[in-house]
Amino acid sequence: MDKEKIERYRKLGLKMTPQRLAILEYLEGNTSHPSAEDIFRHVEEKFPSMSFATVYNTLEALKEKGLIIELNIEPGKKRFDPNIEPHHHMICEKCHRIFDVFEDFSVDLPPKYAQKFKVKRSQVVFYGLCSRCAEESK
Ligand code: ZN
Ligand code: MN
Repeated sequence: MDKEKIERYRKLGLKMTPQRLAILEYLEGNTSHPSAEDIFRHVEEKFPSMSFATVYNTLEALKEKGLIIELNIEPGKKRFDPNIEPHHHMICEKCHRIFDVFEDFSVDLPPKYAQKFKVKRSQVVFYGLCSRCAEESK
């Protein structure tokens, strides 16, 4: 990761340790929507002494700074998305891969609800089978 980026994270008040850097590097441009366990397993290869708590705390800190989004799409397992641009998701119920949907379509709350609720953001989740799993289950 280049110095400029590291400096930017520092300015946001994130303590930059080699472990944290490895986590950030893994997340950068990652479109697999990894869970904390996935991230831990990956970074552990490089830093065998790293604890799961380090991964967890780093993810919490990044989330707090608005640098990653926590997805609660998969039951019982938080997934993380470094792409903070508004977008939607599709999750395969068989292999649990999560795909991005960047198409811009709006979902409007019907007026009777909108009167009593100020919407800040919304996200649509499509549940189903990815093409790979659909092919396998034929
Ligand atoms: Zn699948
Ligand atoms: Mn995404």
